Amino acid sequence: MPPTLQALTDGVLKGDKTALGRAITLLESKKKPDTQKADKLIETCLSQKADSLRIGITGPPGVGKSTFIEVFGKQLTALGKKVAVLAIDPSSAISKGSILGDKTRMQELAKDTNAFVRPTPSGDASGGVAKKTRETIILCEAAGYDVVLVETVGVGQNEIAAYSMVDFFLVLQLPGAGDELQGIKRGMMEMADGIAINKSDGDAIKKALVAQGELTRALHLFPHKENGWIPKVLLCSAQENEGLAAIWDMIMEFATITKTNGHFEFQRKSQNKYWLLQTIDAEIKNRFYQNKHVKSHIDSLLKAVMEGQISPFAAADKLLKLATK
Ligand code: GDP
Repeated sequence: MPPTLQALTDGVLKGDKTALGRAITLLESKKKPDTQKADKLIETCLSQKADSLRIGITGPPGVGKSTFIEVFGKQLTALGKKVAVLAIDPSSAISKGSILGDKTRMQELAKDTNAFVRPTPSGDASGGVAKKTRETIILCEAAGYDVVLVETVGVGQNEIAAYSMVDFFLVLQLPGAGDELQGIKRGMMEMADGIAINKSDGDAIKKALVAQGELTRALHLFPHKENGWIPKVLLCSAQENEGLAAIWDMIMEFATITKTNGHFEFQRKSQNKYWLLQTIDAEIKNRFYQNKHVKSHIDSLLKAVMEGQISPFAAADKLLKLATK
């Protein structure tokens, strides 16, 4: 017998990990009764004001994200924090699997009583995963987790989604200079509040220092952020547990500055607005493509457009009119 909504809510608010896990599963369910329950649960959890810090962690596969999160997370629980780890996984139709990997990740941290590691949810091309992750953050915070780490692989949409739900966006990079730096996209540089060059150990330290210099110079070319924060580039080795304390100090400094000048709160409010508009956009699009009139005409109109029998604009107009019929 599944627990009642009341029991589940009580469990989450008490910080019970099993209840939290079940609540997230409920959130991920596509069944209508579950969705309604999940909405109620979120509403209750939203009313629990939590003092939390949401940190996005991104970087290419192999940069050391899971190693980093495991060590960083343990460091935070040692400081008395309660840490939740969530992931936005671009598991795609192309790879048929999750890029971030499966449930075996971060086993050490998962065993920690003050940590909650949510196994990667399966992919959903409609962008539903990001929305669920945002709601999952709310549940975790209501359950008393005061640091939420949101992990994602640095690819397009996922990165933007993660950026739009966190307070601090940390980009992990590998030591390397020159050409290798070209690989870090402009958009990523703009989003970064901090860049950590991981694997700065052994022979790689020299290269890492060069990269640090180059990335710092590159960051300075961007206009200053409105929140008064100047992004930093730090070196670390997750494997050797070097430099991670300095990364936490940097994040704390960021929080102090932006909380003092009001930007911390402002950013969260702007993110709420972003997600409202984003959800409407997605829903309108969804309804359009699910509309039965659109469904029955879209293929022939697409063909006609491709063959030049009708202009794309006229065809779009027709379809949009059909959708509101
Ligand atoms: P992810 O794909 O970004 O999650 O990367 P992983 O955490 O799975 O790490 C990929 C590989 O890099 C693993 O073999 C790790 O042991 C190794 N690794 C992670 N962090 C470091 C580090 O700081 N230094 C070195 N030398 N290797 C590391």
